[in-house]
Amino acid sequence: MRRVLCAAASVAACLTVAAGAAPAVHRTFVLGRSVLGRPIVGVEVGDPNATRRVAVICCIHGNEDAGLAVVRKLEQSKPPPGVALWLVEDANPDGVAAGLRVNAHGVDLNRNFPWHWHRYGKPGWRHYAGPAPLSEPESRALASFLLRVRPQVVIWYHQAFGKLAAPEAARHAAAVVALAGHPAPRRLLSATGCPPPVTPPREHLITRPRWLSGVLITEYYPAPESWFAGRLVKARGLPGRHRLDWLYSARGLAMQGEGIGADGRFYHFAGPYSLTWHNAGGGPTLPCRRAPGAWSNGRPSRIGTPSKARFAPGKSLPLTYWHDVAVDPRLIPHGSSVFVRAYCDTPSHGWFVAADTGGAIIGPHLDVFRAPPAVPWSGNLRRDQRIYVVPPGFARPASLRC
Ligand SMILES: [Zn+2]
Repeated sequence: MRRVLCAAASVAACLTVAAGAAPAVHRTFVLGRSVLGRPIVGVEVGDPNATRRVAVICCIHGNEDAGLAVVRKLEQSKPPPGVALWLVEDANPDGVAAGLRVNAHGVDLNRNFPWHWHRYGKPGWRHYAGPAPLSEPESRALASFLLRVRPQVVIWYHQAFGKLAAPEAARHAAAVVALAGHPAPRRLLSATGCPPPVTPPREHLITRPRWLSGVLITEYYPAPESWFAGRLVKARGLPGRHRLDWLYSARGLAMQGEGIGADGRFYHFAGPYSLTWHNAGGGPTLPCRRAPGAWSNGRPSRIGTPSKARFAPGKSLPLTYWHDVAVDPRLIPHGSSVFVRAYCDTPSHGWFVAADTGGAIIGPHLDVFRAPPAVPWSGNLRRDQRIYVVPPGFARPASLRC
């Protein structure tokens, strides 16, 4: 396959040179219809037997139509042999006609797809996810189109501020075609950034001993180096050599905070705490400040700048296995005793102390600090548990025992 480099703004010229002798198609088709009956039109351009298929979709948010310029430019292009572009100018024609983000049912189509769909907002709100996944004719049309074509890369155009200028549209189009000539990334990159801010529900601090139901219980533990297989490297602040992935991956010291070295001793990450992270595709990704647990560009895989990371011997926090739990301190006061019958068979005998917190521990959620399980990565998750909370200053009831 010929490699195509289109760094210049003159896409048309570049693509023509690259086109070679492949019999190209230029076919228009209708994916489906909008709520108000407007056709959603697609164009297939390029090699009809392409093994590399790139879909480029504009305007799923009707008030973000600057990507149209890119799609139109691509419609006039001649992709290199082996490449087909599947182009959708306007995925939300009712929204574009009305100048609105949502479709004619008031649904944010970008939040109406089945992957991780959940109830979100009310009709008319700009982020409303709809009554069910694929409830909207536009998202159904797009989903069946993508499942039929199975592109290796899908590019959705969104925009925040301003518009794409014409030369910029040309550069985008060039980048799309260049991308199509390269091996598909392992993960699709998302350029949408963080989800809208999540306002954590207001919690009422527990001030008297009482039961709390509907509690999620997860577990955490220091990452054992023996679970990792990367090569042995020197690390700033640590004696000897250690596994690369134990030091720098999202499952290792840098993310977990502390770990147990191959020598059985504790080691911890010592900063800096503003490290950049990269996703599996190598792109930078950041924790979303206002949506705990979400990342701006997919889940982190490893530190972006390993040379800056420092480590140190010893523990990072004075926590004890099967004794301490992380809680949301807006709900469970720090220092509370907590009884969890599901843990009667552990060294805790069911009783824990609220000693830690975490950014993703929100509301009725306990994170139990435990010894690393015998089977790697096999910690438990329990939903809908009933626990008894005893705030500081009250005695644990003698009647509550395993
Ligand atoms: Zn958007």
